[in-house]
Amino acid sequence: MIRAGLVTRWAVAVIAIGSIAAIQSGVSPLAAQQDAQPQSKCKAGPNTLGVSRTVEIDTTGGPRFGRLQYRDHDFLQEGEVVLTFDDGPHPSFTPMILDALDEQCTKATFFVLGQRALSFPAQLREVGRRGHTIGTHTWAHANLGRSSAAQVESQIELGISAAQLALDGPTAPFFRFPYLSDPGAGQRHLQSRDIANISIDVDSHDFRTKSPSRMIANVLRGLQEKKKGIILFHDIQPSTAHGIRQMLVELKSRGYRIVHIKPKQSQSTVAEYDQRLERDRHARPPRVAAVRPSSAPAARPAPQQAEAPAASQQRIRDTRDWRDTIFGRW
Ligand SMILES: [Zn+2]
Repeated sequence: MIRAGLVTRWAVAVIAIGSIAAIQSGVSPLAAQQDAQPQSKCKAGPNTLGVSRTVEIDTTGGPRFGRLQYRDHDFLQEGEVVLTFDDGPHPSFTPMILDALDEQCTKATFFVLGQRALSFPAQLREVGRRGHTIGTHTWAHANLGRSSAAQVESQIELGISAAQLALDGPTAPFFRFPYLSDPGAGQRHLQSRDIANISIDVDSHDFRTKSPSRMIANVLRGLQEKKKGIILFHDIQPSTAHGIRQMLVELKSRGYRIVHIKPKQSQSTVAEYDQRLERDRHARPPRVAAVRPSSAPAARPAPQQAEAPAASQQRIRDTRDWRDTIFGRW
């Protein structure tokens, strides 16, 4: 699966709002479907954030974005932000966030976990139905920096296969490493699969607080420093679920503009992992994992700040339903 020495090729094409129909035939079917069926409840106007522009990303060669970790590329202009939500879907928080985004007629990117996608497929499909971009974030939020090469591949590919199974359609070839822990094996795998590695610029630190106002302050402080960027939220965190509406108002009032990222290509799956999921699915229906927002996984500039073993064990207990059946075969 890994092609050593692969030369990264990349391209970012900027397209104007409303020109989606002009994209060539290589466009992601997901993006085409989303735009063909706009389901937003928003009423666009001068007081809504909307989408300032859409950026189409050619993921050939696995380009890297997000200047907290990578300096390869920067497609944002001053004042532009990309909204991203990790670790979902969540049965109640994800819908709250979708409604807040709709009120502002704006779009975001969700990096979902395969395990949670299969646990909450209706919420995942709603994310797609409302026109947001759906990337992946591994199967069960493993720290890939502590995983073997085989585990790295399984975590990435099972996440993709599970998300597409739950969505009943293609996801975007966009990936974010849990804890932003990006071992060489993982980066090479993404490059070999033409998957963009999307890190962050600004962290809401929403997993550190239940306070919406504190979360908002974190984002505004980060933006004041960096002037633009890809913002990290988690749609499993209460501070974001309850604060995102005001967060968007604050962004609008300060003149920030929303950029929506979309892929040029569709995300393919690997048959081996599709089959593993299918076998397990028929052998044992999924149970809904316990929801523990306060202890839920969250991205950090790991590995040096990776969480303690005790917290990792808690997460394993939370997600043991599907994980036991599939990962128990290792
Ligand atoms: Zn995460």
